[in-house]
Amino acid sequence: MELIDGNKIAADIIAELKAEVATLPGRRPCIALVRVGEDPASISYVAKKQKTSAEIGIESRLIFPPVTITQDELFALIDGLNADAGVDGILVQSPLPKHLNEVAVFRRIAAHKDVDGFHTMNLGKLAQEDATGFVACTPAGIMELLQRSGVKLSGQHVVVLGRSLIVGKPAALLALQRQPWANATVTVCHSQTANLPAFTRQADILIAAIGKPEFVTAAMVKPGVVVIDVGVNRVPDATKKSGYRLTGDVHFPSVSPLCSKITPVPGGVGPMTVALLMKNTVKARRQNALPGPV
Ligand code: NAP
Repeated sequence: MELIDGNKIAADIIAELKAEVATLPGRRPCIALVRVGEDPASISYVAKKQKTSAEIGIESRLIFPPVTITQDELFALIDGLNADAGVDGILVQSPLPKHLNEVAVFRRIAAHKDVDGFHTMNLGKLAQEDATGFVACTPAGIMELLQRSGVKLSGQHVVVLGRSLIVGKPAALLALQRQPWANATVTVCHSQTANLPAFTRQADILIAAIGKPEFVTAAMVKPGVVVIDVGVNRVPDATKKSGYRLTGDVHFPSVSPLCSKITPVPGGVGPMTVALLMKNTVKARRQNALPGPV
């Protein structure tokens, strides 16, 4: 069994981006990081994005409106960033407070600045295999992990557990692309799938993104499988100072001995998400510098 080291692969991507940004003509790429309210997890995610931006040479603009901001006020803020020629990418940190409509907010971001890849236009471009679109960072990171670990998808059976717009569906669409690095046969499973283990046991590559701690057990996989564990779950653990430990959607102790390769949690998919956000921002800078719409 080989561990896929997401920290190392993400660091490689960040180093490549730093070298690329140093060669870009004109101003540096710029990302606007919008965080509504003071949610502790969001504070730490945005801080990590700001730090990684600085490391690469990407300018970040920090905009932290109060939790009381209205939908119209947030729309106006986004409209201002959409119109600002000095901003290449806009990220609105999820989750938003309950009184705000997240999908409507994501759609308000101009598609050519949607570095999170959640806009309808970018999801459509992914389905149409149009490389000018932005792909959501976690599924794009999964594909980079697989490619850079030497895992070939072509002709293989990829089984995706989960059908969210943020992970499961775009991961399935990516694995399906008519590209040498993709060309997989894809099955997508979800909460209404009957006899789930019958599908997961067929997987050459299993992508687990359901948000259920240690759900995938040894009885659900075949020997030699490559497992990508996207789940990030907090489970109570009295032995930890924090009172919890992080675990994935896969029961690592029993599944990992059966795998040819597997990602750990933490240190697998997680670091890739930020690296791919940076990659999308540099791509936005390049594309937004071109004349006309893309
Ligand atoms: P989500 O929006 O809650 O979607 C979960 C999906 O799993 C749904 O499609 C759901 O089916 C399916 N599901 C739930 N229970 C199931 C079961 N018992 N059997 C089969 N399918 C089941 O979650 P998400 O945003 O995709 O996130 C999934 C996990 O990835 C979470 O742990 C999240 O924290 C993690 N995540 C990690 C990163 C990262 O950077 N590492 C980024 C994003 C998410 P239905 O559609 O039928 O409800």
